[in-house]
Amino acid sequence: MYDVNAIRRDFPILSREVNGKPLVYLDNGASAQKPQVVIDAISRSYSHEYSNVHRGLHYLSNLATDQYESVRGTVARFLNVGNEDHVVFNSGTTEGINLVAYGWAMPNLQAGDEIILSVMEHHANIVPWHFLRERQGVVIKWVDVDATGALDPQAVIDAITPKTKLIAVTQVSNVLGTVVDVKAITAGAHAKGVPVLVDGSQAAVHMPVDVQDIGCDFYAITGHKLYGPSGSGAIYIHPDRMAEMRPFLGGGDMIREVTKDGIIYNDTPMRFEAGTPGIVQTIGMGVGLEYMMNVGMENIAAHEASLRDYAVTRLAGLNWLQVQGTTPDKAAIFSFTLDGAAHAHDISTILDKKGVAVRAGQHCCGPLMQHLGQTATCRASFGMYNTNAEIDTLIEALELAHDLFA
Ligand code: PMP
Repeated sequence: MYDVNAIRRDFPILSREVNGKPLVYLDNGASAQKPQVVIDAISRSYSHEYSNVHRGLHYLSNLATDQYESVRGTVARFLNVGNEDHVVFNSGTTEGINLVAYGWAMPNLQAGDEIILSVMEHHANIVPWHFLRERQGVVIKWVDVDATGALDPQAVIDAITPKTKLIAVTQVSNVLGTVVDVKAITAGAHAKGVPVLVDGSQAAVHMPVDVQDIGCDFYAITGHKLYGPSGSGAIYIHPDRMAEMRPFLGGGDMIREVTKDGIIYNDTPMRFEAGTPGIVQTIGMGVGLEYMMNVGMENIAAHEASLRDYAVTRLAGLNWLQVQGTTPDKAAIFSFTLDGAAHAHDISTILDKKGVAVRAGQHCCGPLMQHLGQTATCRASFGMYNTNAEIDTLIEALELAHDLFA
């Protein structure tokens, strides 16, 4: 039995008020709140267990190193990665995808080679590929979503040509909530010899993820959306792709030996982790992942599916509101606009007065906004601790916004 009230009690911020109203936090797509166990782990680490990692032979350094390194195994369990050495730590998805762009694509792609993206991608999965377009003549090919916001895996596979060197696609859209069949895309792409990068930033928080089942080459996650600290993240890299990669950032920890004339790199995955990492952030991310796994990813997914279904029904009752992305196969993420002159920013300001936190704007998805013909939307994105009662509050606040602008 999913006890959402017990889960809510684990997140201290959820009991605060905003603008004199109980907080209704529906901005989880931007960043999730943190359970007490994560907050305690951060505090305990800095209070009693902190040191730099991988460097000292003293007690605290060994302790911090063990705690930090153990998170590799936690991420491996969370994503069902067979070998924890295929997990590279970083500061989040943005850094993870940049690592692939600089470390794998830059040395392996030539002018005229193609990268396929869906039109739903977040700027973190667009801009690094634009760098390659600008700097070495790589061609970006876009695959559209249909009118419901669904992405047909076959359309992605059909876009492959002999020049295609990578498909980079999100598993869940941070704007529409669309769930993409990345397993089908990977199977079709691999049949044509094309590697696949999956942006798991939004998916990994809402559903169980099994990278071995998906079969993809790269899978990026970001800790702050997974109920952990910002500045933490990880990317799974298939060993065959890792073997093709050049280091991206240079510095301490990623080398075994440095002389005046040369360098010998450290083994992977540390070869791709230069400098002092986000030690406490990574430890905190590990605790966030353990927290989710204790609740159970299947249970979280089922709870959020019921939130989604309830929100679909309630939002459908507002005939002056347009939900962007109506495919039934979606996560509990809703972008919408209102009839008339009300701008998304005005709506979110009114919702905020009612204690309801949503996001307004482009959501770092310029090409998708252009595809939708929108300059901005409001987005309500749900997490493991949200309730139907909060959806009712959202609806009441939207009705108020509509009354004010009608
Ligand atoms: N991809 C998607 C789908 C996202 O939603 C986000 C965060 N909004 C990112 C990538 C980037 O994640 P981060 O800012 O944590 O690097």
